[in-house]
Amino acid sequence: MRGFRIGKAFGIPIEVNASWLVIFGLILWSLSAVLFPATLPGQGDALYWLMGLGTTLAFFGSLLLHELSHSLVSRHFGLQVRRIILFIFGGISEATEEMPSAKVEFWVGIAGPLMSVLLGVLSGGLSLLAAGIGNDPLTVVFQWLAIVNIALAVFNMLPGFPLDGGRVLRAAAWQITGSHRRATRIATRGGQIIAGLLLAWAALRFVNGDFLGGVWVGFLGYLLFQAASSSYGDLVIKDALSRVGVADLMSRNVTSLHPEMTVRDAVDSTLSRHAFGGYPVADGHVHGILQANDVKRVPAGEWPRLRVTELMKPLDDTEVLSPQTPVSEALERFNRLGVGRLPVIQDGELVGILSQSDVLRWLEWHPEAAK
Ligand SMILES: [Zn+2]
Repeated sequence: MRGFRIGKAFGIPIEVNASWLVIFGLILWSLSAVLFPATLPGQGDALYWLMGLGTTLAFFGSLLLHELSHSLVSRHFGLQVRRIILFIFGGISEATEEMPSAKVEFWVGIAGPLMSVLLGVLSGGLSLLAAGIGNDPLTVVFQWLAIVNIALAVFNMLPGFPLDGGRVLRAAAWQITGSHRRATRIATRGGQIIAGLLLAWAALRFVNGDFLGGVWVGFLGYLLFQAASSSYGDLVIKDALSRVGVADLMSRNVTSLHPEMTVRDAVDSTLSRHAFGGYPVADGHVHGILQANDVKRVPAGEWPRLRVTELMKPLDDTEVLSPQTPVSEALERFNRLGVGRLPVIQDGELVGILSQSDVLRWLEWHPEAAK
């Protein structure tokens, strides 16, 4: 999922997906234009929108603290956290590695809901305090934050993967059965059942004439069903591929270009004879990657005068693999960069190339992993 970076917390990049802006706007509007005028009549519009903005920002902060708890507990157990991303469905704290044990998964999973409960109780206390000093706007604002944070904790603790409760369920099943795969099966099944219940509830709201509520709950159910169904297959494959190294699957025979070559030579000797998207430019050491599409963009008349080094993309650390990298991580890299192959480099030297089709071929011959 794509997101734009809004900042960093404890060294963890915080990103927001464009879909989150929709939710931000929707909450801001429904609080400022509907809920607050109804619960606290007779005030000016400016006050309602100020309350709405403050509450929406505090809600945003609550979500962030929820995800940050997952991230910090992950990091406490030595897992690397790549980023936190907020989107229409809430947030995700992305760790790069699989959970090493049931105990770690349990604490990582429960950390977010615990934070939400804490924030709910805190907001409830502040609401009582505000009521005590007779400040009605703050009473209403903190009341809403208390309810929403508790609701967030309850919803997230529903026992179905990929919700937090599903992670806790998987940790428990993992501890009891000793099998990570069976535990995943149970937890994703739970996710599908909860999604089914949400869809049934959505239908009920439709029947009762609550159209908007029905759409919202139905959408939530649909997303959860998708996520639960795909995560079982994904996890099994990822599990299998995390035990295979790039060196085992890569092709050692790499079609590369010499840095001294002109683009004309490269086209005649190589590009017109293969169907690859990119070619490493190397003379032992790798200088960069020449993309076929970049060559096509330059008029053919200029090819004889241009060297491949002038047109190639210089190598960036993230755009190469090492022979020891697990294949599961290489796949993530393919997805993130939107490329189909990556050069494999050891001590600055080109030792092979790994493509998505190498991985697919391997999976084809290891049906027990792809199942
Ligand atoms: Zn969570």
